[in-house]
Amino acid sequence: NKQVILRNHVEGIPKESDLMIVTASDIMELKVKPGSGAMLVKNLYLSCDPYIGFLMREPTPSISALLDAFVPGKPIYGFGVSKVIASDNPGFAEGDFVHGIVNWEEYSIINATGSGRFTKIDININVPLTYYTGILGMPGLTAYGGFFEICSPKKGETVFVSAASGAVGQLVGQFAKLMGCYVVGSAGSKQKVDLLLNKFGFDDAFNYKEEPDFDSALKRCFPKGIDIYFENVGGKMLDAVLLNMRTSGRIAVCGMISQYHLETRDLVQNLPDIMFKRIRMQGFACYEFNDQKPKFLEFVLSNIKEDKLTYVEDIVEGLENGPAALVGLLHGQNVGKQVVQVAQE
Ligand code: NDP
Repeated sequence: NKQVILRNHVEGIPKESDLMIVTASDIMELKVKPGSGAMLVKNLYLSCDPYIGFLMREPTPSISALLDAFVPGKPIYGFGVSKVIASDNPGFAEGDFVHGIVNWEEYSIINATGSGRFTKIDININVPLTYYTGILGMPGLTAYGGFFEICSPKKGETVFVSAASGAVGQLVGQFAKLMGCYVVGSAGSKQKVDLLLNKFGFDDAFNYKEEPDFDSALKRCFPKGIDIYFENVGGKMLDAVLLNMRTSGRIAVCGMISQYHLETRDLVQNLPDIMFKRIRMQGFACYEFNDQKPKFLEFVLSNIKEDKLTYVEDIVEGLENGPAALVGLLHGQNVGKQVVQVAQE
């Protein structure tokens, strides 16, 4: 049973060498004991998410309050899609497809408590299984709750999304278009900007790596200012956005990926604009919206069915390529939702 293990807590930006692939045990030894309530699953897809990078660091109180940090010498874990191979759990049967939290390994034994973190997949819903790591999973709920709840959008408002082509950003942009907003995104390559304009229907987009004067880029895209900023990156982009926000604007702080692994974080100079312009700036965590899952799934699935919503994924094959995919995400190498395929369905 191959696993991806954390070597040591990392400092700075995680590197591939901070992770290692080991063969932990013979798969034949993985047995479900009768009466245990456990199940054996074969992991099919693993989700690469930015938070995995900061769980690799020495845990701080603010990180521990959110999630259990990884333990050196033990496998890392995250969201995944798996197939049940054997089950002593009355809620799951052999052959079921499930999504939930799994170790980065080929096969996992899920004990009775751990199975509470799994949801059975309805295979009658005709979507790729990978969607449960993205549009129908945690990033989807993040985009849905973060945009509709935290941003309080209104038709005709102007919306800016950073890291706009990623797992969360591509959905926020499309949700905003469905609401009748004017939507602009920033992303780190020409290929990503093309996707924003031609695949996700953004009204405008810019490559922040080619246009380092973010203030000018934002002024060009939003001559009358920004009503809503969906914040994914932080740092200098936030600073420039503050200068371009309109009175009574909203900033939903979903993430600040540019800051997670810096030893000295960027100073944000323009915070007084929050007061001058009476901006509401609010952070959130996706699990706040757990009670909205049925509404979220209905909304997303009906829009997929009507071809009003699309989703781009970047799938790499093989558990052994997982560390490179994960580290690549922190450098913007993913185009769309980054997934690792561990096994064939
Ligand atoms: P993405 O799929 O967007 O992948 C990360 C992207 O971030 C990269 O592709 C890259 O895109 C961009 N990026 C990486 N480093 C930098 C940098 N230094 N400066 C600017 N951009 C950078 O990830 P997700 O959609 O999964 O996550 C987006 C954000 O949402 C993250 O901040 C994440 O932490 C946060 N998040 C928060 C949740 C919550 O509950 N609050 C839940 C899920 C995600 P590019 O090439 O465009 O630079």
